[in-house]
Amino acid sequence: MRREVSERRAKRRPTNSYSGAPRGTGFLPNSVLRLLHRHGGIVSTSELRSVHVDQTHLELLRYYGSLQAVRQGWHCHPSLPDVNRLAWRFGGPLACVSALAYYDALDSGREPTTLTLGDLSDDGRLHVCVVSNQPRIPGTALLARRWSISEPREPSIHWSTAAYRSGDRLAVARHVALLQADRCDDT
Ligand SMILES: [Zn+2]
Repeated sequence: MRREVSERRAKRRPTNSYSGAPRGTGFLPNSVLRLLHRHGGIVSTSELRSVHVDQTHLELLRYYGSLQAVRQGWHCHPSLPDVNRLAWRFGGPLACVSALAYYDALDSGREPTTLTLGDLSDDGRLHVCVVSNQPRIPGTALLARRWSISEPREPSIHWSTAAYRSGDRLAVARHVALLQADRCDDT
């Protein structure tokens, strides 16, 4: 009888960790953790190189889910909220009314990982800041296909290198977001 119970328990035990690479459970060296912390959880391949993460090491970190691809040449911590991931895939940090809603949500004690598009935008449209010389913004259909996500709405883009650098990789600085929202045609 006892054996049956323990067998049943064994059957219930999830086995998915044996069917592929474990996700988000990998180890990150302190140098990479510090780098991620400095930039809000998103880092580039060349920044990783600067802390001696070569291509093989990067592939291992990606395989074990310690780092995830966020855009070509960019990687993030697995805990990066989807809204920030989406903004970075369009080209940069949250801007304007989306950044303000983001700061308001954090001020009210929301866990960043629980934030949804609806929390940051009334109409499903993210306001995103990109550098002034960003060559192009990826199309929404392409982005959905590339990252297996549902197709987002066309973002409202704020082109400014100074604003892009004003905060971290999650959102432009709050005072910059206020100025942007004041002048934005898409609000
Ligand atoms: Zn705007």
